[in-house]
Amino acid sequence: MRYFCGFITERIFTMTDYKRHLVTAALPYANGPVHIGHLAGCYVPADIYVRYLRAKKQDVKFVCGSDEHGVPITIRAMREGITPQQVVDKYHAIIRDSFAQMGISFDIYSRTSDKIHHETASAFFKKMYDEGLFEEKESEQYYDEKTNTFLADRYITGTCPVCSNPNAYGDQCERCGTSLSPEQLINPRSALSDAVPVKKTTKHWYFPLQQYEPWLKEWALEGHKEWKNNVYGQVKSWLDSGLHPRAMTRDSNWGVKVPLPDAEGKVLYVWFDAPIGYISATKQLTDHWADYWCKEDTKLVHFIGKDNIVFHCVIFPSMLKAHGGFVLPDNVPANEFLNLEGEKISTSRNWAVWVDEYLKDFPGCEDVLRYVLCANAPETKDNDFTWKDFQDRNNSELVAIFGNFVNRTFVLMHKLCGGKVPKLHEAQLDNTDRAIIADIEAAKGKVQSALDNYRFRDGLFEVIDLARKGNKYMQEKQPWIVAKSLAENPAAQQSIDNSLHLCLQLTANLAVLVNPFLPNTAQKLLQMMKVVDKMLDWDNAGKVKLLSVGYSLREPQLLFRKIEDSEIAAQVEKLKASLFKPATDPATTDASTTEAAKPADSTETVLPAEAKAEIQYDDFARLDLKVATIVAAEKVAKADKLLKLEVDLGYEKRTIVSGIALHFAPENIIGRQVVIVANLAPRKMRGIESNGMILMATQPDGSLQFVNPDETSANGAMVS
Ligand SMILES: [Zn+2]
Repeated sequence: MRYFCGFITERIFTMTDYKRHLVTAALPYANGPVHIGHLAGCYVPADIYVRYLRAKKQDVKFVCGSDEHGVPITIRAMREGITPQQVVDKYHAIIRDSFAQMGISFDIYSRTSDKIHHETASAFFKKMYDEGLFEEKESEQYYDEKTNTFLADRYITGTCPVCSNPNAYGDQCERCGTSLSPEQLINPRSALSDAVPVKKTTKHWYFPLQQYEPWLKEWALEGHKEWKNNVYGQVKSWLDSGLHPRAMTRDSNWGVKVPLPDAEGKVLYVWFDAPIGYISATKQLTDHWADYWCKEDTKLVHFIGKDNIVFHCVIFPSMLKAHGGFVLPDNVPANEFLNLEGEKISTSRNWAVWVDEYLKDFPGCEDVLRYVLCANAPETKDNDFTWKDFQDRNNSELVAIFGNFVNRTFVLMHKLCGGKVPKLHEAQLDNTDRAIIADIEAAKGKVQSALDNYRFRDGLFEVIDLARKGNKYMQEKQPWIVAKSLAENPAAQQSIDNSLHLCLQLTANLAVLVNPFLPNTAQKLLQMMKVVDKMLDWDNAGKVKLLSVGYSLREPQLLFRKIEDSEIAAQVEKLKASLFKPATDPATTDASTTEAAKPADSTETVLPAEAKAEIQYDDFARLDLKVATIVAAEKVAKADKLLKLEVDLGYEKRTIVSGIALHFAPENIIGRQVVIVANLAPRKMRGIESNGMILMATQPDGSLQFVNPDETSANGAMVS
């Protein structure tokens, strides 16, 4: 391979100078399915951009793949009693299929557990190591002796010193928001085994990022002032606050092994190996991969979500710079976050719209989701997805504007022009006709300028706006009214011909312009116009002679269907019903700013809650729920979590052992009324017979509350 050496200090290339484009989309973490936030964050915009470049006949490769390493995957495997490979095999397939169905047109969708990636990442590290670019350092880290695992801060839990939340993490308390270190936790425990973590010495290889600070300032801050404000601002704030050495290895057996003799049990940090995955995927795709990675006339663009900005704008470029021989990203058009119904999307609470489920619930509506996610994309700030807005945009924009225009045009052309493209009678063109011709010609430039600058929302707006103008034109020309005067004025046919000719040329333009955004819709239009893919070449946009006079066209087909209130209500209901209690399991929480839990586009996801099966009233009636008062409470020896309670049911007192010791001090709950399951079969816990169960409500922060009557109730009162 011939490396291009040196650094491009001046950005001398303009769009037309670039010979080829390499577009990457963030590698999704193979620990769960993808949701609409992921699509809106980077995959939909990346796909629009790539389809646009392809339509312009540019040389472009679009690469992505599953990120399959990292601690959350090993922990999930440990919990489920399967191998990490089984975990990633499952989610890789789900994610890959969702993307394919949504029309995300990767040239390759690879995976980081592939051999080619291990070799590539390993060689990348080795070259940097051989050139003395790492610092070797020993440090003390927390270790779980029960599971033989070094623990990232996120995997240590304990009581928050600020708010006493018993389930605070070693990096942060999610109840009060305080940033913590494991040392500050009261009663720290391993989240994996409940063992008390111990400190153990370990050796790692650090990348001295601070040495690249001056270069980063020149390259990113001076050289890329055109980057989006949210991206540029985040990079600037990282550089302003100073960079520090960052460990590029981890203690684990799952990942790319550190290619050094004294590195048993150590793997590359997932954020070291994942971006190299873009290179491996390109290698897997083409023997000419080096053209895309090493030649200076390649334009490299990374599409990501905002949580990955530092990795793609600071760390990975520094790695590429240190290694040498690679091009650097020209742009990193990161989006902000998409919220859902006014709340942050949460994989752990299952507050999400999963793409695989959407595809089942709305078959044939892939383009509708692409449309809504682009029209409402969080390009400059966080945005909200609501099912109501989804319905409105479909019904009042796709159906009422775009679909309606195309349908009217085709119906009238069949009715008034014999199903063929009518003639354009130049001499009869009036000002209204000339204005719509000008609109068609101008639309290309507007959409293009938006797409060239990563303003996908604006680009899509311009496409819809052209359809809107088409409707208005049709309304002014009213060919169906003109047709009524044909008997006395046969020359009126020329006016009818002109308006439908122009409406058809506008429709052909819509196909070209909408193609990057809504590829299925563009294909349907081609089908109706009986033309081949070549029509969709970007060069054709802006032309008013795309369809030949006399060419016969098919009957219209439905482009978009109306979405009913009942469908939307069902989705809202489904969302609320599947919301489930928060995991106190750090492997499945959203906040993931720690080193080892890979920050999330990485989607530290858990499976959606399995809703419990429907039951009959009789099933419920078998439960004997009663109100009782706690009259005595004490800790159970040698059991951190258990309290031995005595409850008064009015007609009897009984002993219940409850796993709430981490949440309540015994002295604080005496006298509390609770609801118990009174007919639960007795069970021995730590030698104590427990006769019943106390009902608890788990709060979003993981804390527990008693379920109790809102006013003092008689002990023994039946709950039904
Ligand atoms: Zn707290």
